[in-house]
Amino acid sequence: METDNQIFHEPRAYDSIDLWKDVTPEQWNDAAWQMKHSIRSVEQLKKVIKLSAFQASEIERTLAALRSQGKEPLRITPYYATLMDSDPFHPIMPMGEKPKKRLDPIFWQSVPTPANLLFPDTGVEGAMAEGSRSYGAAYQRYPNRLALFVAENTSCASYCVHCQRAKSLDGSVDVSRTEVDKGLFYIGSNRNINEVLVTGGDALMISRSRLQYILEELSRIPHLRAIRIATRVPVVLPMAITDELLDLIEISANRYNNGAEKYVYFMTHINHYHEITKDLAVAVKKIRKHGFTIRNQTVLLNHVNDYYKTLAETFRRMFWIGIHPYYLLQCHKERGIVHFITPVQVGKIYMKHLQGWISGVTMPRYAANVEGGGGKVLLMPSGHDTFNVGSNNEDQISESYATVTTWDGKELFNYEALGRATREEFEAAVKVMDEFIGRKGVFLPKVILVDQDGKHIETTNRLKLPIIEKLKKSALLGYDLFDNEMPITNPAEITNRLDEQFRNSKYSKQQ
Ligand SMILES: *Cc1c(COP(=O)(O)O)cnc(C)c1O
Ligand code: SF4
Repeated sequence: METDNQIFHEPRAYDSIDLWKDVTPEQWNDAAWQMKHSIRSVEQLKKVIKLSAFQASEIERTLAALRSQGKEPLRITPYYATLMDSDPFHPIMPMGEKPKKRLDPIFWQSVPTPANLLFPDTGVEGAMAEGSRSYGAAYQRYPNRLALFVAENTSCASYCVHCQRAKSLDGSVDVSRTEVDKGLFYIGSNRNINEVLVTGGDALMISRSRLQYILEELSRIPHLRAIRIATRVPVVLPMAITDELLDLIEISANRYNNGAEKYVYFMTHINHYHEITKDLAVAVKKIRKHGFTIRNQTVLLNHVNDYYKTLAETFRRMFWIGIHPYYLLQCHKERGIVHFITPVQVGKIYMKHLQGWISGVTMPRYAANVEGGGGKVLLMPSGHDTFNVGSNNEDQISESYATVTTWDGKELFNYEALGRATREEFEAAVKVMDEFIGRKGVFLPKVILVDQDGKHIETTNRLKLPIIEKLKKSALLGYDLFDNEMPITNPAEITNRLDEQFRNSKYSKQQ
């Protein structure tokens, strides 16, 4: 039912774009060239995608405001930019998404819009009141594993607008050698730590010498078993995945190892099937040839991938090219990205209705990262979401407050996933974005409206929950239909027909 060209998103031909019409294939496929020619200004952006003068000036205004907050807001590799529609305000969305209601998903993820300056009051999430959990560059919230932050400079190849660590958009982030050494020292001194997440920014954007140093030092630690490398490079700069880099990782991670071999895993960050291209597949194949497994974290993003079919395509296509979906993460509540948050209830409904319809191995775990040391809390969908009699997840609109319990039994009351705004703020925000986009019905932030006293009134844009009927699911997922508008799930029901076809098939003729 799926054909080859439905697996891969087709980027625009770079030589059809004015800015790069004279670029040679050698240059294009050179990661250093890509980095040097990354889009950093609206002037460059205008030469790649269609923007009205007003849209360009609004993006400029946004960038200036973000820069004045010390952020580095815009950086897009030429490669990643070619995944964007030439007219991102009127994208071609062939997979059944309503283009009238959409902006290009790569545009949303990589170009700051005036929405980043809206909704200044995110409201409390109900963070766990806790102090630091770091020693040097090591950040620990679980007994056996920790994150090691290794970023040098602002080391991401492309900047994600929705970045959950707004820090990495911050030009000042730079983890010193001493901090890294303290982290390494701590890992070596705590024999419970059998797994390290090497993360940045982007772990593959640091210098080769630092990467080699960190991996070699990790290789010396006898109790360490697995190293997870967190990177978006395969997605935004696949040409940087070279055999030379992979050799370095493979050799360094076990260079001074005496005990059991240390396994390396890559953790990627794919949010939309438009990021799944032939170039990504080539990079994935190289990584896997070196013996590394790749798992992916998707962030559930309103306006980008909060749609049944989009999630299904994203998960199953990545699996088809060798990436295992691992987490679907609730978008973190952070100033400037409130419009990207989807209600937990909606995410749960999507996940519940994907179960069975796509393979179990292509289903990630839906989780939220709870601030202040809570760690990840599972928000799994389930066919068992009510005890005794009562309502279940889909009966009514919940307001998304919940008590969450962490893995170590801490309880967090009134965990609130959505941002807050007054009605005036909300209406003004929608007006700003409708003008920017040039039409209504595209910018649909889900925020909790509160009155002057902070009391809850209603949640916007979610008067209707997604109702996903059988028929629609079959069609959305591209299945051939049989009886009752369902795909075949039991061949015994059509034995007679199959027998006849079998008699005429090559299997019968062979005998
Ligand atoms: C996500 C995370 C981990 C890894 O958790 P898993 O559930 O094993 O993927 C470890 N440490 C920190 C600080 C994290 O945020
Ligand atoms: S690659 Fe990761 S760390 Fe870097 S900007 Fe994107 S989400 Fe943030």
